[in-house]
Amino acid sequence: AKDIMPRYDTNALALAGGVGGAKLALGLAKILDPDQLTLVVNTGDDEIFYGLHVSPDLDTVMYTLAGIANPETGWGITGETFNMLERLTAYGEDTWFGLGDKDLATHIRRTNLLNNGESLSEVTSKLAVALGVEHAIMPMTDDSLRTIVDTEIGSLAFQDYFVKHRSEPKATAIRFDTNGGARPSPGFERALSESTIIVFCPSNPYLSVAPILEVTGIRERIAGFPGKRIAVSPIIGGAAIKGPAAKLMAEFGVEPSCVDVAKQYIGLCDAFVIDNIDADRANEIDSLGMDVLVCNTIMTSKEDKITLARKVLDFALR
Ligand code: GDP
Repeated sequence: AKDIMPRYDTNALALAGGVGGAKLALGLAKILDPDQLTLVVNTGDDEIFYGLHVSPDLDTVMYTLAGIANPETGWGITGETFNMLERLTAYGEDTWFGLGDKDLATHIRRTNLLNNGESLSEVTSKLAVALGVEHAIMPMTDDSLRTIVDTEIGSLAFQDYFVKHRSEPKATAIRFDTNGGARPSPGFERALSESTIIVFCPSNPYLSVAPILEVTGIRERIAGFPGKRIAVSPIIGGAAIKGPAAKLMAEFGVEPSCVDVAKQYIGLCDAFVIDNIDADRANEIDSLGMDVLVCNTIMTSKEDKITLARKVLDFALR
């Protein structure tokens, strides 16, 4: 389709978490050339397992663009086997984090290159190139920024909360542990200077977008960004398609709705995209000072992803 459609005259910076972010990222990658798109991905979920550096959101975006993501889960590699994990379980390890055999190679390679002194940006670029991905995928930072969820059962590292405890404990706060501040990755810096549009993919506002905004200077840079800024709501009809976004909103005393997601992006977004189901909320978002696009935002097929990406760009650039 890319060949017969006119080329967009824009450079886009897309901010993404994992599963929701990767869907729109794929749509954008299908309509923008590699020199027109930078995907900046949350690394607040990164964790060390068995001595290996795992970057779940980077991997989800990378595998999705490489066309090898598992369509059932949205994360991991399609046709994956879990022989290593089964053996580890047999040895008596508490193996609550799903590490597939092929996926493991990614983490081994990443860890080796990091141990050789390369930055996470350099490593990610090498992995993506090896997977045949042409568009730029970058971590939000090469420094450590860890998402911590304070819950009724104590403070949990992100993966403890999300995977081990299945997001079940009631959350009271989300914090980011940065050891004195995480600087934006060089690619993030460059994209902020060179892009004409910022797209907030439909990612979890607390667990995927907030960590990106927590990187030193980023909130201010986006607030002062001279181009267009547009976000797609991950909350549809008061619910998340997947994950704890709506549950967290309720626990933090805000209504789980697209309107309350939009409120978090006041001053950061010029336009906000909501689903047809939420058409009756458009006026409320309009009164927050954002232009509203109402359309189908549920991305099931590849065509859905491309169509939404196109609508997002057309609306922002109209
Ligand atoms: P995670 O890090 O893997 O949890 O991924 P993200 O933060 O990027 O995505 C999680 C969010 O994506 C959830 O709040 C979902 O509601 C949202 N999401 C998933 N699929 C879709 C979709 O097809 N359309 C929209 N609008 N949101 C989606």
